[in-house]
Amino acid sequence: MKIKKDLSLDGYERPKLEVPNKESKLLLHSCCAPCAGEIMEAIASSEIKTTVFFYNPNIHPKEEYEIRKDENKRFCDQLGFEFIDADYDKENWFERIKGLENEPERGARCTKCFDMRFERSALFAHEHDFPTFATTLGISRWKDMKQINDSGHRAASRYQKVNYWDFNWRKQGGSSRMIEISKRENFYQQEYCGCVYSLRDTNKWRMSQNKPRIIRGIKFYN
Ligand code: SF4
Repeated sequence: MKIKKDLSLDGYERPKLEVPNKESKLLLHSCCAPCAGEIMEAIASSEIKTTVFFYNPNIHPKEEYEIRKDENKRFCDQLGFEFIDADYDKENWFERIKGLENEPERGARCTKCFDMRFERSALFAHEHDFPTFATTLGISRWKDMKQINDSGHRAASRYQKVNYWDFNWRKQGGSSRMIEISKRENFYQQEYCGCVYSLRDTNKWRMSQNKPRIIRGIKFYN
């Protein structure tokens, strides 16, 4: 993989990042283009050799999964990042969160969901000699960063030579850059976290606010 040199794409300047232990290689679990955009630019500007790992069998339905994946792939191609398209093993996901269907967001179902995605990421890191993996999930203010980082460390602890990088991507302007880049790139703007239960609950909330139900696949940042 070769990283294009002229990054950030819009000339934004930021401090260089360093992977813990000065490792030169990173596996980045990614959930979607809007969350990944700022993080990918930050690590590309820091010339960290990075492979994006798209493993999100939680996303429902399949058409939504494909849109989010394609958007992420499109930005990887733009930056010259390698993109790994992992399994959409949704049956395993549903099996794993059985009994937690009515949990609220940031509750026990989400812990299982993060565990599953990070265990797969850590396994890939182990099998392909990545000493470090990280995730894009924590940049979103909708998420509980501690819950995500606990899952990441738990997954990495399965392997002696794999570490989880719990960098706070929201800092140093990360949160606002996430929106700026999403608008600049006109990324697809999903309106629910991803699983069928988050779609159900977001629609329930919208109806309680007299707002229309989500229409998937039509909203883009601009
Ligand atoms: S709400 Fe999001 S993080 Fe929680 S289980 Fe659903 S897809 Fe996973």
